[in-house]
Amino acid sequence: MDAFPSLVQKNPFMKLNRCVFGQHESITWRILLTRCKHNLFASRIQAVHTSDLHSTVNCHLSEEVRLEKRASSCVPIPKDFSWPSPNDEIPFWKKDFPSWDVSKENPVDIEKDSDLMHIIHVTAEMAPIAKVGGLGDVVTGLARACLSRGHKVDIMLPFYECIHKQQINGLTLTTTYNSYHDGNWVPTNAYQGIVSGIPVILIEPSNHFFKGQSVYGGSYNELEAYLFFSRACLEWMQVTGTQPDIINVHEWQTGALPLLYWDMYNSLSIKKPRLLLTIHNIEHYGECRQDELSKCGLDGSLYATIDKAIDDRTIGHNPERLSLLKGGIVYSNAVVYHGILNGIDTVMWDPATDVFLPSNFNAQELEGKKVCKQYVQRGLGLAPECGQIGSNSNRVPLVVCISRLVAQKGLHLIMHAIKRVEELGGQIVVLGKAPDSRVEREFEGLANLHNQGTSVRILLMYSEELSHLLYAAADMVLVPSIYEPCGLSQMIGMRYGAVPVVRKTGGLADTIFDMDDQSRREVANGFVFEGIDEGSLSWALERAFHYYKDKPDEWNEVVQKVLEIDNSWNNTAGKYIDVYNSIR
Ligand code: ADP
Repeated sequence: MDAFPSLVQKNPFMKLNRCVFGQHESITWRILLTRCKHNLFASRIQAVHTSDLHSTVNCHLSEEVRLEKRASSCVPIPKDFSWPSPNDEIPFWKKDFPSWDVSKENPVDIEKDSDLMHIIHVTAEMAPIAKVGGLGDVVTGLARACLSRGHKVDIMLPFYECIHKQQINGLTLTTTYNSYHDGNWVPTNAYQGIVSGIPVILIEPSNHFFKGQSVYGGSYNELEAYLFFSRACLEWMQVTGTQPDIINVHEWQTGALPLLYWDMYNSLSIKKPRLLLTIHNIEHYGECRQDELSKCGLDGSLYATIDKAIDDRTIGHNPERLSLLKGGIVYSNAVVYHGILNGIDTVMWDPATDVFLPSNFNAQELEGKKVCKQYVQRGLGLAPECGQIGSNSNRVPLVVCISRLVAQKGLHLIMHAIKRVEELGGQIVVLGKAPDSRVEREFEGLANLHNQGTSVRILLMYSEELSHLLYAAADMVLVPSIYEPCGLSQMIGMRYGAVPVVRKTGGLADTIFDMDDQSRREVANGFVFEGIDEGSLSWALERAFHYYKDKPDEWNEVVQKVLEIDNSWNNTAGKYIDVYNSIR
């Protein structure tokens, strides 16, 4: 019978009102599913003797499953529901999850635009197949929103060796061509397929570029690889005769594409596209020597002026460097940085259908969130809150922080939070990956110190699956960034009913409003602090804990409120479409 949880997870998109999930000896599990808007709930779990099942279509229910219905909870937990444990051979976030066919979940009620265009995103990241941070989320979410509005959208990205081919539907080698690098024409393959309902074009050079076990940090020259990729995308458009209306490039990695377009390919055969550069994080600008830029076929020395690709940060360096991001800004028809708030992809981030969760939930039906919390607590070896799901006694707030571990994210504040949350009697899980080995060692030290107990887990890795489980389990999501152009973590956290505790900066200040700010009660949705000192963070955490423990009604209200906030791309994609239209 312990097959039950996995069977449930394997059928998240059952569209039937009734379905049979599986068998154990002579008992067949049956879950009655109820549909509410787009969401399905397992409303009743019943068991039927298999013989009865065969005898009649409307079979008589011969035996109610003895549910271990815990006090004050209406979550039906089957008797032999198997909770995960830290000793499991396969950790709970690495289980065999069903593939997520989000194409079926595309919102149908989106109004189509009248003037439709073809948009190609050229990017280093795309969620979920090649994601490191928010860039991947934004590209996928924006692409899906534009597709839903009727536009033709493709995403071009490098065919990193670490991409799992099973995640790409209908993967087909469509073009073999040559693209230039450093005096040679490199044989290159272009594959096409569908990822999460979105058409992708994957560029695979036959040299060593993009090989390795992760998106970034392979043992090849990253700058040269992305210069190659930028040109290879244009070369592909040239050889296939593809002329989109818009090429939307992202970040420094594709900053050379606008230079290559206007100074090379536009005088060949690609005339139609106009270019938009989206800057997600201006800290990274792609510092590049003139001779390195020359490797993609442009004369690097021609760009070494302040009105082209030298900027304040590269000027005066010896030797003087170029900035690919600056070049991209100068050569694009428009640049998006400030002004358009990102959305989240509410199809991929949906607690009501999320295939990684042991129990789904939504704003109206929150019991599943409690199951998720206890599931994560048990799986990570944190002290389960109490023996009974849903009991209000002995409540222990669970804080999660899911972040790249880089200075921007407020490393000293994350470290302080680990200590402070434990002192306050809460639990905290940090899921993060540090590209810098010194930072990694520091967090490893903290993990060795704290991970033995039952209230802190510091997990130094990247896991999309675990991130979903943590957001679902969390009472609070911590985002103590020093600066944050937009930030998705606080929005995703809210979508999963976690109340944000954030530093007041950039997009965090735009989206989170303090519960104790009497002048903005109607929008209050979290806890905000301004200083970069530890005391400021402690103050916000203490207030959040006070609400959680001592003001349960107000806490429940804010949880309800954050679950209902609409931070979807539906709200903001229109602004992107306006910019696209303005440059056509
Ligand atoms: P940034 O783009 O600066 O990394 P954002 O808040 O905009 O920050 O986006 C971060 C995204 O990356 C979120 O989807 C977050 O859940 C995810 N993420 C960050 N670190 C990890 C990790 N170690 N494992 C899984 N997901 C992560």
